[in-house]
Amino acid sequence: MSEILTIALSKGRILKDTLPLLAYAGVTPIDDPDTSRKLILDTNQADIKLLVIRASDVPTYVEYGAAQIGVAGKDVLLEHDGTGLYEPVDLKIAVCKIMVAAENGKSIDQPRIKVATKYVKTARNYFASKGQQAEIIKLYGSMELAPIAGLADCIVDLVDTGNTLKANGLSPVAHIADISSRLVVNKAAMKIRHVQIKQFIRQIETAVAKKK
Ligand code: AMP
Repeated sequence: MSEILTIALSKGRILKDTLPLLAYAGVTPIDDPDTSRKLILDTNQADIKLLVIRASDVPTYVEYGAAQIGVAGKDVLLEHDGTGLYEPVDLKIAVCKIMVAAENGKSIDQPRIKVATKYVKTARNYFASKGQQAEIIKLYGSMELAPIAGLADCIVDLVDTGNTLKANGLSPVAHIADISSRLVVNKAAMKIRHVQIKQFIRQIETAVAKKK
């Protein structure tokens, strides 16, 4: 048996879309990830284990080598500072956009604006690239509330159908980036365990292509 391959998966929406891809690649968890309280899940393959963790922790586990492979949203990767990760496969799941949104009819063309977001780095880089001064206010959730409650002029958040914005009287005013989940790999592990990891990457690439 080869050395254990540990894969860190993002909980929630991404997990739901990742499991079918893993199944296509021949990996299925033994316990049901939705109901199990275990944090490390065994799979049908004795040498593959899954960690089911908070999305924003996935890059950290993979960068430090606690997991050799991970699945993380591009939104999370854009916020992560590390350099110890490869991003070899776009899994084309949990597809959405990261956008600027403001109250219906309001413009964000002001010399200085207040921006509420969980995505501080992405927001800072975006407004800096436009040469617009922005005060970034960090929030942990329900960003849509910030403009309505008078906390900020606009928000930077993920948009899928646009229904959440609409329900709160907000409209998208700028597109920052297209988002989807990516397979990430620890750089050192890619060198040291090249054969095992390359084989897994190939299986996942085939699974992504088959699913299309
Ligand atoms: P929607 O109403 O379909 O535009 O979805 C927007 C809400 O879902 C926002 O609260 C987003 O933060 C969240 N969301 C949308 N897409 C994703 C995704 N791919 N991953 C995580 N959260 C998402």
